[in-house]
Amino acid sequence: MHRAFYHEHPDVLTLETDVVESLPGRVVLARSPFFPGGGGQLADLGEVRWPSGEAKVAGFETIDGKPWIVIAGDAEIGGKVEAVVDPAFRRMMTEMHTYTHILNACVYRSFDGALVTGVQMNEDATARMDFDLPDADNEKLRALEAPINAAILEDLRVGDSYVPLAVAQAEPGLIRTRSVAPPPTADGMVRIVEIAGLDRQACGGTHLSSTRGEKRVRVIKIDNKGRHNRRVRISLV
Ligand SMILES: [Zn+2]
Repeated sequence: MHRAFYHEHPDVLTLETDVVESLPGRVVLARSPFFPGGGGQLADLGEVRWPSGEAKVAGFETIDGKPWIVIAGDAEIGGKVEAVVDPAFRRMMTEMHTYTHILNACVYRSFDGALVTGVQMNEDATARMDFDLPDADNEKLRALEAPINAAILEDLRVGDSYVPLAVAQAEPGLIRTRSVAPPPTADGMVRIVEIAGLDRQACGGTHLSSTRGEKRVRVIKIDNKGRHNRRVRISLV
């Protein structure tokens, strides 16, 4: 079964690996530690290093099923390389991403299974989540800050597992929205991320191994985005 390296080895951020295909300014690696972005989580920053040089990672593109890593400049690399994920950025994104699950769980529970309509995490340690909440009281949404931080302090275990797509689609609430659910793996499985006792949903991002990260969450703004959508902006503090 195909599993992403960044899911199987989330703590391995520096990896020696082989180039399997190369063009000027882009490369496919035998194994890649980089999270390529998706589900509202920004792609990793990092570098590729080889004996005679190094280049910053500039982006990720899957073409004909091949996961190309785009690098700055036009070097054409072969042989062994070192792939290096920027640890601080990954850490921030991972923590923010885990906290968006907690926000999502609190909204889901407090507002009768309300679904996510969009999510975006930002470089400046803020994020926004949009929810389908036509009649929500914005003060009630703002008040979720306390239970979110309580769940962080509880240090709940976060784990993952894989279920067949049909099983995932049959379990209410597991796929909160198409905009955050990951595409199935090549063998038709969906990755499920579970925060013990709090939340269980399909997700393809990176997460803490338990909820107590370094930072806490502040709800900084609630916006009405159309008649149905509420946009909740949070920040790491
Ligand atoms: Zn997630």
